[in-house]
Amino acid sequence: MRAILVIADGLGGRPTDMGGATCLERARTPNLDELARKGALGLMDPIAPGVRPGSDTSHLSIFGYDPYRVYTGRGAFEALGIGMDVRSGDVCFRANFATVEERNGELIVVDRRAGRLSEGKELEGAINEIDLSDLGVEFSFRASTEHRGALVLRGKGLSAAVSDTDPHETGVALHEAKALEDSEAARRTAEILNEFSRRAYQVLRDHPVNRRRQGEGKPPGNALLLRGAALMPHLEPITNKYGIRGACIAGGALYKGVARAAGLEVLSVPGATGDLRTDLASKARAALEALESYDFVFVHIKGTDNAGHDGDAEAKRAFIERIDSEFFGTLLSGLDMGQIHLCFSGDHTTPPATGEHTADPVPVLFAGPAIRPDKCEKFSERAAGEGGLGRFSGRLVPQLLSYCDFGEKFGA
Ligand code: ZN
Ligand code: ZN
Repeated sequence: MRAILVIADGLGGRPTDMGGATCLERARTPNLDELARKGALGLMDPIAPGVRPGSDTSHLSIFGYDPYRVYTGRGAFEALGIGMDVRSGDVCFRANFATVEERNGELIVVDRRAGRLSEGKELEGAINEIDLSDLGVEFSFRASTEHRGALVLRGKGLSAAVSDTDPHETGVALHEAKALEDSEAARRTAEILNEFSRRAYQVLRDHPVNRRRQGEGKPPGNALLLRGAALMPHLEPITNKYGIRGACIAGGALYKGVARAAGLEVLSVPGATGDLRTDLASKARAALEALESYDFVFVHIKGTDNAGHDGDAEAKRAFIERIDSEFFGTLLSGLDMGQIHLCFSGDHTTPPATGEHTADPVPVLFAGPAIRPDKCEKFSERAAGEGGLGRFSGRLVPQLLSYCDFGEKFGA
């Protein structure tokens, strides 16, 4: 028996989105409606009723972890998601290439994104040649998209209780990292960060890439701004807990990171961009292929949330129709529904009417041979409110894997 979880980010909506109906209710979704007739619906509070979820905390909860216990900030999951080796106890930072100017002995930030430079990968090598062994710490840096990257510090006596070097505004000096608690580890980590920042400026200042950019009149990426210190938590991989092999198909780094922390292998899929342009049929084909060798496949689709944040109800409705036709149309044509349990839901509600995540519960659909069908004939928020699964909090993955009879009994 196989399992597939499909999450459309920010799927849920409010009746205020489209004149009395949600985008999902207004969308034509024949494939999802067919699954709703075969399966059962319910409503999920991603973390708990009344909690407005972030995407990272919500995904942890959906995977069966307690975000209040394991969440330390998105930096750790982003670093994992861009493929870095991150171990429990490492301290992770989100990083930006930025443009600074020396004035009166200070480094003044003039562009926090260095003109959204595209040469991050070329600068990455120079950063990784910095030697911090005299400070008794190992580090690795990886550039990701545009000006973005991540830094991971590894060593004894480190702390994530340090402030950002990113001033989050321009025209002011690069901040010195400071200890945010009275501990030797926090003071030491702040010193390491400040020394790292100085050495990064030294290697970036005269780097050929930056001289070339300056020659072309572009802002150089001559400094790294660090923010969001996060300790990598210890998560027991669900693959160990359930004795399964799992795979993840996603575009966004954050989701790949949570999936890696949960023990899933992140597959690279052509056309998975993590936004509204994503190739949904390509993701469905990748999922079908993955189901031949993995017990559990997690697919993340981001575009619904983007349209919600943009306040564009029509774009959200149209994207939901694409999920139905391009993703589920392709997926269902290749699935034997007698051999698989499928779950489709969102990680929270992002109503275009508010443009932000809200705490409203999201509709959930389960289908497969062990699911007791209910009376729902359509997949929507309204139908889900009358569904046979009722209302529950998070834990979609444990429920899905239990229907497949994976996992051990609790108690005798
Ligand atoms: Zn989300
Ligand atoms: Zn969002």
